[in-house]
Amino acid sequence: MLNDIKELEISSKSKINFLEKRMKEELSFHHNHNDCLVESPPIPKTMLLDLCNGCNHKCIFCMSRLMDRKVSRMKHSLFTKIIDQAMDLGVEELGLYATGEPFMHKKLEDFVKEAKDKGFRYVYISTNGALIDERRLKKVIDSGLDSIKFSVNAGSRDAYYKVHGKDDWKKVIKNIKFVSKYRKKSKKKMLISVSYIVTNISKNQKKDIENLLSPFVDEIMFWDCGTQQGFMLANQGVLIDKKESKIDFCNLPFNRLHVTSEGFLTLCCTDYENYLTVADLNETNLINAWNNQLFISMRKRHLSGDLKGALCYNCMNNTDNEMFPIDSDLSNQIDVKSFYLESRDNLRIELENRDNNK
Ligand code: SF4
Repeated sequence: MLNDIKELEISSKSKINFLEKRMKEELSFHHNHNDCLVESPPIPKTMLLDLCNGCNHKCIFCMSRLMDRKVSRMKHSLFTKIIDQAMDLGVEELGLYATGEPFMHKKLEDFVKEAKDKGFRYVYISTNGALIDERRLKKVIDSGLDSIKFSVNAGSRDAYYKVHGKDDWKKVIKNIKFVSKYRKKSKKKMLISVSYIVTNISKNQKKDIENLLSPFVDEIMFWDCGTQQGFMLANQGVLIDKKESKIDFCNLPFNRLHVTSEGFLTLCCTDYENYLTVADLNETNLINAWNNQLFISMRKRHLSGDLKGALCYNCMNNTDNEMFPIDSDLSNQIDVKSFYLESRDNLRIELENRDNNK
């Protein structure tokens, strides 16, 4: 066992060099785009494109498990059309996920290869790592993926089940170790990271996950559980003790492109019911969508702080006010009042069920 671990360990020196290089790239990227807070900013260098809006896990803090919107997958022809336009417009980084699990799209590896062949500098995904086996992992890594982030939100099998709603702990840890081993064997330059959403269920297990996974990954990021862009206000006081502080300003409508699995351009990476969609890329092109009147008017509202009635207002202010979609034809309209009430009951019941099923 010890030998196995030694074989898989990444030397600290190469790990640091690799991370330093990536951090420098990210810093220069953000530095170059701090001047974009205007009504019609230039096209960003980064795009998140959701291949599938569904997820095989039911994380307790996540809006995905309560999402009412139909599950859909990105059509291949539309993917090609959008990334061709993005490439022509100077987009360099492409994240193939947003609200869903990217491995739920059976063409993920084809899409990664296509994007890399077309010249995208950095192609990355975030996954729960539970749907896959070694064969599929090899395929996606061989396609040229630059970064894989595993979402592991607990430090033990029991807590993992309580958070993720699935008993996939062993499988996921095995997959992470395999990716580390395969990267070393194939000499691929790919970043491997873990994100860990800290809740009251898992807050005392941070050291456990570090001890278990640090030898195999380049970084482990701990993020406090939030309210999922204002949808999961129910998390406060249950999964996290304190109320989230207010957000003064949000950069997302200015410095990143977000495309839903249906092919809609939206302001946000976690727009579960399409309340912030501004254009249908099946019908229009990326540059026209980025500069259309709906998008410009939402940026004006962000700049002036006039966001009442939009999801962004609830996200930034921690409130459960009535809210309306920007374009009702592209959204999945919900009964907002009932949603906020029912999501609180649901969280309590779901936690009890998971306790009983342990
Ligand atoms: S303010 Fe709007 S765009 Fe920004 S994170 Fe919140 S919901 Fe998303």
